[in-house]
Amino acid sequence: MILLDGKKTANDIKDEIAIEVSTLIANDRKKPHLAAILVGKNGASETYVNAKVKACKKVGFSSTLVCLDEKVPESELLAEIEKINVNKDIDGLIVQLPLPNHIDEMKVTQAISPNKDVDGFHPENIGRMVLNLPTYLPATPSGIIELISRYNIKTSGKHCVVIGRSHIVGSPISILMSRNNHIGNCTVTLTHSRSKNLKQITKTADILIVALGKAGFVTRDMIKDGVCIIDVGISRVESSVTKSGWKLLGDVDFDQVKDKCSFITPVPGGVGPMTIAMLLQNTLISAKRDIY
Ligand code: NAD
Repeated sequence: MILLDGKKTANDIKDEIAIEVSTLIANDRKKPHLAAILVGKNGASETYVNAKVKACKKVGFSSTLVCLDEKVPESELLAEIEKINVNKDIDGLIVQLPLPNHIDEMKVTQAISPNKDVDGFHPENIGRMVLNLPTYLPATPSGIIELISRYNIKTSGKHCVVIGRSHIVGSPISILMSRNNHIGNCTVTLTHSRSKNLKQITKTADILIVALGKAGFVTRDMIKDGVCIIDVGISRVESSVTKSGWKLLGDVDFDQVKDKCSFITPVPGGVGPMTIAMLLQNTLISAKRDIY
């Protein structure tokens, strides 16, 4: 079994980005600049946003963090987005999800200018992805593709089973794995909460991508020998052995399945760090005006 080390791979990507930033600056170009908007006080969201700001510093980007009150009217949030849309110094904008219930997430997603949508969630960028046109790929699926590519895992003609059909992971990764690309050309089965006979399907997977948010959901009896497993899930569960009183678990029972796999991502240290690296990559692409 080979462990897909997302932490190391993400650090390699960050080092490559930092070199590109130095080149931009040496050519009298400005530093790439990422802006993030955080609404309310959600512990997990704050952790994610802070990690993104820290990563910007590490690669030499500028960053701006706008924190808005939990009760901010939707119109005010949209006005903040528009301010950033027209700010020529800012290359990329993300609005940390989830948002409070009174705010329409889809409206917010669509308010971000497609040329600054480095999360790749805007319908225009999703459309470009489906058509295999240059675009900002959503960060988590893009991180999965990058990890598969850097470990030289063969995908062409393989059966890829995806569990979960969210807009940010399951649905886009199923499209990317089926595209006619170097990493792609899989026969893809997208499964979800209404899928029947899931075990029969997962047992036929050469590549299994799991993103449903249920700790330890995939067990040994659900996979075949030699499968490559990408575990996207992150659940915080209570633990009596850690100082903090909790630990992070993936959607796959790692200890049960590890000796049956060809490749597997750990949690933490697998897909998570790759997501941030790809967000930085998209911001660099935007700063270089490579797409728009
Ligand atoms: P989600 O919570 O929006 O949706 C879950 C999906 O799982 C749904 O499509 C649902 O149909 C499916 N599902 C639920 N129960 C199922 C079952 N019994 N069998 C088959 N399918 C079932 O999904 P999400 O936002 O993609 O998040 C999934 C997990 O991935 C979460 O743990 C989340 O924290 C994690 N995540 C990690 C990263 C990262 O960077 N590593 C990024 C995004 C999400």
